[in-house]
Amino acid sequence: MSKFLLFILFVGLAWWWFRGRGVSRGLGGGAPVNPPVERMVVCRGCGVYLPESDALVVRGHPYCCAEHVVRDDG
Ligand SMILES: [Zn+2]
Repeated sequence: MSKFLLFILFVGLAWWWFRGRGVSRGLGGGAPVNPPVERMVVCRGCGVYLPESDALVVRGHPYCCAEHVVRDDG
């Protein structure tokens, strides 16, 4: 009898695991998890887009690298 209960428990766990994986793949299980979108800025020296965290901000203007800061100064 205990083997039968163990079998039921195993099937239940397998069903629960399988169902959980299926729902997470997008059958109305909620919005897909996206990484936070970083704000993009445009280099004032060359016009390239880059994430704000990668940009050099000098006097309020974003740059992709120090060379473009120098070029813009001249
Ligand atoms: Zn640049």
